[in-house]
Amino acid sequence: MMIEDNFRKVVPYVPGEQPKDNDVIKLNTNENPYPPSPSVLDALAKVDNNSFRKYPDPDVTDLVQAIADYHHFKKENVFVGVGSDDVLAMCFLSFFNSGKEILFPDVSYAFYKVWADLFQIKYREVPLDENFNIVPKDYMVDNGGIVFPNPNAPTGLTLSLSDIEDIIIENKHKVVIVDEAYIDFGGETALSLINKYDNLIVTRTFSKSRSMAGMRIGYCIGNEQLISVLNSVKFSYNSYTMSDVAIKCGVASINDDTYFKNIVAKIIDTREKTKESLTKLGFSFLDSSSNFIFAKHNEISGEELFNALKENKIFVRHFNAPRINEYLRITIGTEREMKELISFLDSYISGKRG
Ligand code: PMP
Repeated sequence: MMIEDNFRKVVPYVPGEQPKDNDVIKLNTNENPYPPSPSVLDALAKVDNNSFRKYPDPDVTDLVQAIADYHHFKKENVFVGVGSDDVLAMCFLSFFNSGKEILFPDVSYAFYKVWADLFQIKYREVPLDENFNIVPKDYMVDNGGIVFPNPNAPTGLTLSLSDIEDIIIENKHKVVIVDEAYIDFGGETALSLINKYDNLIVTRTFSKSRSMAGMRIGYCIGNEQLISVLNSVKFSYNSYTMSDVAIKCGVASINDDTYFKNIVAKIIDTREKTKESLTKLGFSFLDSSSNFIFAKHNEISGEELFNALKENKIFVRHFNAPRINEYLRITIGTEREMKELISFLDSYISGKRG
């Protein structure tokens, strides 16, 4: 018997690179290029030593209430975690215990597989159709639960609310998780279905539209029974999930809706302009409703472009995976960053054509 025989063997999720150098154009992990609301920085400036000396509120009361008010739910409908990764992991632990295979799309967010393996949950990846769309009827088969992002990542494509509702209805004894990490940039939210169905969880994050990836705040909304199960699991694992600083900054962000809406509108506008520029350069892309574009060039491989961009200090995401390895996932940055991206691609592509 070796010591290693008792070690847990897992294949971890590989997040996008986080270069230390601030001198790069970072379009690889779908962060927001703009700062959070000034009221977040004001809240941060008011933090005193109590936020550090004392344990934070285990119930995260202020932030839960602010989120509940914002979406017009009760606080009993809201669960908060350290990024939506934390919330989703808690959901996997809490709801996917039937012993049956859970279903999620292939292609989709790579962390689903990792959590399923970590928590020893059986799963089946359900292929997208030839246009990269989720096929609702493929989720109307025997299963142990369902999770998918809407908009999907990295495709950026959305599923209609009526398709989502059909999936929820057909799976009434299983939990359906709709991961709405990117919903503020497009698509129809499933929040309107929460009071209608008791098997739906909608997850959200502060990392993208609220410019707070570094603060690690995520949440989900669901019926009271589901949220109380999540709280039991959380309190069986780590009672203090969110720092007082994060709670205060999260509340400040929620309370500044004008700033939030302006930033989201700006990113959507830049996305549409970037799509036009990419088309002129010979790219085709899926019709993204997100803060990223999933694009491929008609002559040059995804890997080559990824490497060329990186050498020029422009980081985008390339997935070495079947079906999608010709694509680049490009996060929408500022107008200036996107101009630099387009101008580099323009000269690289014309250089190749000679
Ligand atoms: N869901 C999807 C589809 C994502 O792309 C991400 C970001 N990597 C997350 C959830 C998690 O984001 P966070 O933990 O920052 O809230």
